[in-house]
Amino acid sequence: MSRVYNFSAGPAVLPEEVLKEAAAEMLDYQGTGMSVMEMSHRSKAYQKIIDEAEADLRELMNIPDNYKVLFLQGGAHQQFAMVPMNLMKNGTADYIITGQWAKRAWQEAQKYGRANAIASSADKTFSYIPDCSDLPVSADADYVYICENNTIYGTKFHQLPDTKGKTLVADVSSCFLSEPVDVSKYGIIYGGAQKNIGPAGVVIVIIREDLITEDVLAGTPTMLQYKTHADNGSMYNTPPAYGIYICGKVFKWLKARGGLAAMKEYNEKKAKILYDFLDRSKLFQGTVSKKDRSLMNVPFVTGDKELDAKFVKEAEAAGFVNLKGHRSVGGMRASIYNAMPIEGVEKLVAFMEAFEKENG
Ligand SMILES: *Cc1c(COP(=O)(O)O)cnc(C)c1O
Repeated sequence: MSRVYNFSAGPAVLPEEVLKEAAAEMLDYQGTGMSVMEMSHRSKAYQKIIDEAEADLRELMNIPDNYKVLFLQGGAHQQFAMVPMNLMKNGTADYIITGQWAKRAWQEAQKYGRANAIASSADKTFSYIPDCSDLPVSADADYVYICENNTIYGTKFHQLPDTKGKTLVADVSSCFLSEPVDVSKYGIIYGGAQKNIGPAGVVIVIIREDLITEDVLAGTPTMLQYKTHADNGSMYNTPPAYGIYICGKVFKWLKARGGLAAMKEYNEKKAKILYDFLDRSKLFQGTVSKKDRSLMNVPFVTGDKELDAKFVKEAEAAGFVNLKGHRSVGGMRASIYNAMPIEGVEKLVAFMEAFEKENG
């Protein structure tokens, strides 16, 4: 067996310990004589799995009692529609456009009401986070929407926008559980699991209870109402059962590592190794404003497309895979989520140094 260092933006690296445990339980989950994949979601054994997953997530994020945790499907993309369908009581929402995912969410919301772009960093190809200290928030906005960590461009809101009292909704797909958060500052926090938590197929939604109502847009399907899932413990229909089980294992792995404060420290240390190198390299450069740098997704370029391609190819041959930048921006991107060990980043930097000597 040989494992590579996988810098994919998602689906992405998972903790090896979690994968080993899942492998050991594959044929017989704790004496049930079956895999979790084969198990009824209405069974006692499965109820325990989902209950523990929720309890561990609540503990990790210190989620207040007036928030529900939902394990859903449909990817982050489905939330682009579910959020306006459930929250646009006045038919108005404000979006901050900091990249492709925020833009997609904004465009989707336009189908359901007035979705205003109140700030954007499109003028500089999303290489920074706009000043959000005094935004023209709409008086009747049902919510203000952000993509908190911009997976493609490598920027992060290190300070939340001043929403002037309006409900904040955040897509945290690529920074979920990477550091502590104050859940009470948000109305909804959601993210796809396949970036920093578990396998594709699970979306986790943390939603304040007063936002879960029957008063949704006319025609909203039953499956797209938060209330449906909240009233049924995420089991109105068959949930993404195996994926939730793996997420649960990752939550336990995070707890064993000291929780989110410890992860933040580890992630800062890890990202610093790469950013410090980019700042001193004469060949490689980071592409975003320093103050807005993400701890999770680190894009960089040489400034020469052919050299970029050569780097990606040689890196792959050396066991550093999925370093090609997003097709919309080019260059390189190293995604260094929770499960990427610090050795992976150290070795990548050593490889980049050697590449620079040969090609600089
Ligand atoms: C990957 C990603 C998405 C899209 O996720 P899907 O699960 O493919 O719908 C949306 N937002 C962010 C921040 C992402 O990183």
